[in-house]
Order: sequence, then C-alpha cells, then structure tokens
Amino acid sequence: MKVRVLGCSGAIARDCRTTSFLIDGRILIDAGTGAGDLTLDEMQAIDHVLLTHSHLDHIAALPLMLDAVSSRRLQPVQVHALPETIAALQAHVFNNIIWPDFSRIPSSAAPFVRYSAVAVGQLLRIAGVAIEVLPAEHTVPAVGYAVQGEAGWWVYSGDTGRNPAFWRRVNQIPMAVLVIETAFSNRESALAERALHLAPHILAQELAQLNPARPCPIYITHTKPSETALIMEEIRRFDACTPHGFDAPHDIRWLQAGDVLSI
Ligand SMILES: [Zn+2]
Ligand SMILES: [Zn+2]
Repeated sequence: MKVRVLGCSGAIARDCRTTSFLIDGRILIDAGTGAGDLTLDEMQAIDHVLLTHSHLDHIAALPLMLDAVSSRRLQPVQVHALPETIAALQAHVFNNIIWPDFSRIPSSAAPFVRYSAVAVGQLLRIAGVAIEVLPAEHTVPAVGYAVQGEAGWWVYSGDTGRNPAFWRRVNQIPMAVLVIETAFSNRESALAERALHLAPHILAQELAQLNPARPCPIYITHTKPSETALIMEEIRRFDACTPHGFDAPHDIRWLQAGDVLSI
C-alpha cells in the first residue's frame, strides 16, 4: 500500500497544503488543499473520500474537486464520514448557496456524489482495503482512521486532543506507521487545549500510553507553518529525555507533502 502525502500542514502558504492523503491512488483521506495538486486524471481515479471531520482545512478541496471531475466520471464519488460531518457538509457547503448540491446533480438517481455514514469502531472494506474508524476528540465530531497495508496498519489520528480511547485501540493493532497531529507549540498549549489539538508536551503524555513493545515510526502532521521548526525542536527535546519505557527515543519525523509511505 502506498500513502501519498498531498498535504499535511496546519495552514496554507506557498508549499504548505492542508491535510489530504491518497491511498493507492483510489482512496482520499481528507480533502484539504493538498488534493488540489492532483492532475485531473488522478482526481478522476478517486472513487472514495473519507473525511475525519467538517473543518475547512480537511474539506476545502472537496467541492472544487467534485466539480472538476464529476462530468468525466461514470460513478458517483462516495464520501464516507460521520453523520454529523455529512450533515454539516450538506447544510453549510453543498447547500446551493456556497456550492451546488452534488448529491442531487445531475439527478438524485444518478448523482455526482453519494454519502455513506461511518461510526467509530466500524471496520470498513473500501475498494478492497480494510479501514477502521478510530475515535478522535475535537471541537466538532471527528474520527481518525487506520488503513491496513501489507506490513501493518497506517494509523492517522485526525485532529484530536487528549484521546485515551485512541491509545486503547491502537495498542491492539499491529501498527506500521503512526501519523499524529501536533498543531501547536508549547507556548500555545492553552490554545491547543481549548481547540482540542496537541502541543508537544501533551503529545509526550499521549505517547506515554503507546505500547512500548510495538515501536513504529511516528510522523508529525498538522503543524502550523510558522511554528513547525519550534514544534519539532520541542518534540525532539522531550523525546530525548523521556522515552517513557522505551529503550530508545521514539522514531519521530516531520511529515511533508510529497512524502510517500509504503506500508
Ligand atoms: Zn479540526
Ligand atoms: Zn485541521
């Protein structure tokens, strides 16, 4: 399985694109601005979009992407998300004011997009790929996803604050790669707590719940462009001195758009 990182930044700027991951060219996980870099042919090949939540940085490219390729596709794009996320999209984006309701265009019987509700804990099989819906703790209903590859599971936290249920579950999964958000630096940790995001010192407490018997590479995502260097420095500092029962520091790396993870 190949996970192509289209965007993994907490905001936009030149060379900074918001969250979007492409799995084997067919499944998009989140549709942030990174998806806008795909060619028309690449966009057309996406049959399924899984959303973690309704925030704009995770859905911004979805309306434009659907508009770009729908007339070239023979089947609707399936959008999988929590019922609350689907309701938010319908009420606030595809409401015929901000953007057309593609679930009724060109007709309700044969629309450009179909919605499919997911629930935390559900094991989906999408285009032959096993995907589990993981819990997330955010300011709106949110999830993470675990996607099964040949070497184990690619686990993505989504946007989340402290999340004990997430660790309980992922410790039971043979995880090959963990992608976890750290949106803020420690100096903004009060804001991180309020916005239900992670900062490095909260990440340290979260990673303490990871099963030391199963170390795997950890990729940091969703950093604010202006704070990325500071966030990674703060993470390196805690990781060097508090391995939390691990024999060595975690293998923590910064995720970048353009990275391809083979799992
Ligand atoms: Zn969010
Ligand atoms: Zn976000």
